[in-house]
Amino acid sequence: MDKNSKILIVGAGPVGLTLHRLLKKEGFTRVRHIDKNLTAAQESRAIAIHTFTLEVILKELGLQEEFKQRGTPIQRFIFEEKNELLHTVTLPRFLCSIGQNITEEILGRDLPVQRGIECLYVDVHGNARLKRQDGLIEEDQYDLIVGADGTHSIVRQMIGVDFLGKSYVQTWSLKDVQFDHSPTDPQTAMIQFFDDGVLLFIMAIGPKTFRVFSNSPDCEKFLPKDIKIESTYWSANYHVHCRIAKTYAKGKCVLMGDAAHTSSPVGGTGMNSGMEDAYLFVKALLKDDIQSWASKRRRYEKNLLFWTDSIYEFFTKKGGFHRFLRRFLLKYVMKIGAIQKVLFNKFSRPLKKGAS
Ligand SMILES: Cc1cc2nc3c(=O)[nH]c(=O)nc-3n(C[C@H](O)[C@H](O)[C@H](O)COP(=O)(O)OP(=O)(O)OC[C@H]3O[C@@H](n4cnc5c(N)ncnc54)[C@H](O)[C@@H]3O)c2cc1C
Repeated sequence: MDKNSKILIVGAGPVGLTLHRLLKKEGFTRVRHIDKNLTAAQESRAIAIHTFTLEVILKELGLQEEFKQRGTPIQRFIFEEKNELLHTVTLPRFLCSIGQNITEEILGRDLPVQRGIECLYVDVHGNARLKRQDGLIEEDQYDLIVGADGTHSIVRQMIGVDFLGKSYVQTWSLKDVQFDHSPTDPQTAMIQFFDDGVLLFIMAIGPKTFRVFSNSPDCEKFLPKDIKIESTYWSANYHVHCRIAKTYAKGKCVLMGDAAHTSSPVGGTGMNSGMEDAYLFVKALLKDDIQSWASKRRRYEKNLLFWTDSIYEFFTKKGGFHRFLRRFLLKYVMKIGAIQKVLFNKFSRPLKKGAS
């Protein structure tokens, strides 16, 4: 695509910001980037930055060192059942834990994002209708419109692309807290299993701050009894879905990030996979190969959703037989190096150059 092409990016979450930064780096000069919100995300939402994101995408953007400095390296995961240690996995390469608000602050620095502008309408011919904060309506035509506008994407709805999949019934809860003493050292994340299919995750997001989250409405209830929360910085209840857009490209519009796919937090893939959509999209754009990007990325994400959904369903199944299987898997099968490698490669994608 011509570097003078008119491009509209709808949405300035981590995915839209990554895309904008990459387009700028490649010399695209007519990028308009809007977001309906007046400020960037204030919440820490997605906290896991995987290897491919850190060592390929952020490195290319010259931001890898800042992420390493401001993030917390997670070196291992421990799996426990009612405080009994089942297994410890040491990661071949660390995972960078950092709040999404900081991720967006770094990615968005010096980018000319126009905030307070809402996209009301787009079509496959590249027409867009935008509403400014003062109520003024603007209409224009673009060579390319990118929907990076999150799960409820207006771009996806306007071009009539179905969001296929399912919604999980559980209400999830999360808290970012400071404890009276650390449940683990900050470089070790903890996953606990309880009866009734409840999972509890504890992971540091700073030297003294921890993210606690669970597939139950009250994650605090499942914390080890000997630790107390001293302060809570953010808490939320939310629902989780496993969905994928029927197509990622239609006419002059493309979808990426949560607008194209959404998954359970298992594996921490949501934001990473979206940033990878943007990274590979720019490579495809330079080769005028958007259709092939769209089908490859969709195939890749479908497979990832299959894994995250299967793992989530398996580990949260109730009943004695599943409990036995889960313990067996974690105590014996997960010790096999080849299995650990497959899982690490699946979620963290170390130093792969492409996602085809
Ligand atoms: C409570 C919570 C916890 C989460 N935890 C994790 C986690 O632990 N790990 C993980 O990987 N993921 C997690 N996620 C998901 C993660 O936040 C998303 O995957 C990620 O934000 C996707 O980025 P995005 O840029 O595609 O979309 P978003 O971050 O949703 O950004 C979309 C942007 O589009 C803008 N927008 C929407 N509609 C319009 C419109 N009509 N006009 C203009 N602008 C518009 C919005 O204002 C927003 O800024 C969590 C999400 C939530 C809500």
